[in-house]
Order: sequence, then structure tokens, then C-alpha cells
Amino acid sequence: MRLIILGPPGAGKGTQSSQIVDKYNVAHISTGDILRENIANGTELGKKAKSYMDEGKLVPDEIILGLMEDKLTSDEAKDGFLLDGFPRNTLQAVSLDAMLDKNDMKIDKVININVDPEVLISRATSRRVCPECGETYNLLSKAPKVDGICDNDGAELIIRSDDTKETVSKRINVYNEQTKPLIDYYKAQGTLFDVDGSKSIDDVTDEIFKGIKS
Ligand code: AMP
Repeated sequence: MRLIILGPPGAGKGTQSSQIVDKYNVAHISTGDILRENIANGTELGKKAKSYMDEGKLVPDEIILGLMEDKLTSDEAKDGFLLDGFPRNTLQAVSLDAMLDKNDMKIDKVININVDPEVLISRATSRRVCPECGETYNLLSKAPKVDGICDNDGAELIIRSDDTKETVSKRINVYNEQTKPLIDYYKAQGTLFDVDGSKSIDDVTDEIFKGIKS
């Protein structure tokens, strides 16, 4: 199974991705997670990406495409994958199709999570993440059992540096201008289905599983 999850910042892509990869046993390939890991490890890639991310801008395509070519042909991806945060613009989508073609692969389904714009900012700024295991929490809908502490490993939760109100609004603008056109791109390919992301986490997961099966 090869899947893509699309949606604006705060739509719940990270939370739903965890459910999907558990159920379908596919690799979770999140460009945002890979970039943040590189920043934490002080790599050259991380140094190049950080300023763009802190400003809510997209990291340049050549950096992302090099990274993804390696990932998609890696062992990790051979039994299927869920792409989360990629592609982010039309050039990346066209390049992804070329990479897949070259390797005799195709995308089975594209999940598009819709959420009203007013809800997005409050959701994104209520996000907390575990720096150890990557688990995502939300103070509004999925709070940790103990305030500020990860349920899985007891690490202190952090706020992503690009989850400030100002940066989130910029990221939503970038989404509207550059990523939203991909909805029509994948509709034309016949692989996209819509999900109402304003429902509860479990209801959204159910809708996604139904859409993948259909
Ligand atoms: P995310 O965790 O998917 O919200 O991504 C966080 C940030 O990483 C974005 O705001 C971008 O700066 C950068 N990023 C992640 N994926 C991509 C991509 N496919 N293309 C360009 N920049 C990306």
C-alpha cells in the first residue's frame, strides 16, 4: 500500500498517520520529522533547512527531492509507505510521479483532510510533541495523562519552534498557495478522497480506513 496524506497545518496529519501506519504496516515517511531530526542532530541538511522552517516557508525543492529519492528507494519503503508532508507543491508532485514511474511504483490512495481555517490556528498552537519518541499530543483533543509529560516514555513535552501563532498563519498561507492545488492534481488522477477533519480523532480515523478500503 502506498499512500499520501494531505491537509493544512493543524489538520491532524501526524495523529492520523500514526493510526494508518499501525493498521497497514507501512513506513511513515514524514519530511517534517526527517528535517527536525536533522536539525536536532546538527547535520548539514538540518542547518540548511532550519531558517526556512522557522519562518514557516517551504525548504527548497532540490533539498527535499534529493532526500525523498533516497527514502523511496530505501529498504524501509519497500513494503509500502505513507507520505506525510510531501509533496508540498506541484513541482514536488510531478517529480514524485517521475520517481515512482522509474521504480515501477504507484500511489494507491491520497487522503485529503479538510478542516475549517478558524479551527486550524488554535489546533496547531495547542500541539505538544515528545522530543524522544515523536508522539504528538494536543491540549484540546488528545492531552497527555500527566500535564507536560509523554505517556510513552516520561519525557518532557515541547512546543515545536514553528508552532507560534505567527508562523502557523504563515504556514497556512503557504499551504493555501502552494499545496492546496495538489487536491485537483490528485483528483484528476482519481486517487484522492476527502475526509472531514473537524470530527473526533477516532471518527476521522474510521473515515480514513473506509476511504482506503473503497
Ligand atoms: P510539517 O511537519 O510537515 O508541518 O513540516 C514542517 C516544516 O518543514 C514546513 O513548514 C516546511 O518548512 C518544512 N517541510 C516539510 N516538508 C516539506 C516539503 N515537502 N517541502 C518543503 N518544505 C517542507
